[in-house]
Amino acid sequence: MLRTIGVEAREVRLPRDLDQIDGLIIPGGESTTIGKLLVSFGLMDGLRERARTGFPIYGTCAGAIVLAKDVEGRGVDQPLIGVLDVTIQRNAFGRQVDSFEANLAVSVLGEPPFHAVFIRAPIIERLGADVEALARLEDGTVVAVQQRNLLATSFHPELTTDGRFHRYFAGLIERCQ
Ligand code: GLN
Repeated sequence: MLRTIGVEAREVRLPRDLDQIDGLIIPGGESTTIGKLLVSFGLMDGLRERARTGFPIYGTCAGAIVLAKDVEGRGVDQPLIGVLDVTIQRNAFGRQVDSFEANLAVSVLGEPPFHAVFIRAPIIERLGADVEALARLEDGTVVAVQQRNLLATSFHPELTTDGRFHRYFAGLIERCQ
């Protein structure tokens, strides 16, 4: 998706990779596994430090969970970067079969609505004072937020052909530089 919108992209696997990039996307997957791998590959401290000093990070789905300060029902062995001031609930819509798609009105992206793909998605329940809701489901459930340099969505924009969320993040990186 990043390459499609003209942004240079590379994989980040080791702490030294963080020195080569201007912003980071933490993708979906399984948040406990991602957290444990961040610890065992020595990425956790560097990411916490960067997140707190304005480095742009975008978490999608499991990536959003790993960014959160507070995860409802978090296991004792689930490490978090813990910088995004929200409480997030994992697997809030139920099992894999309860995955779904929805069109969201997102004012920072303009028209048309954004077609969002939710896969065993979390919801964002509590928003800290400086966290802004960017998108909600029809019932008001928050599914996208921004806290200054940090962006998080419950859904997976990379699974569509709509690059607007990634372009929005690229704009955030430009403004943070
Ligand atoms: N259910 C996963 C978790 O809680 C997230 C799923 C996803 O990233 N699509 O970590």
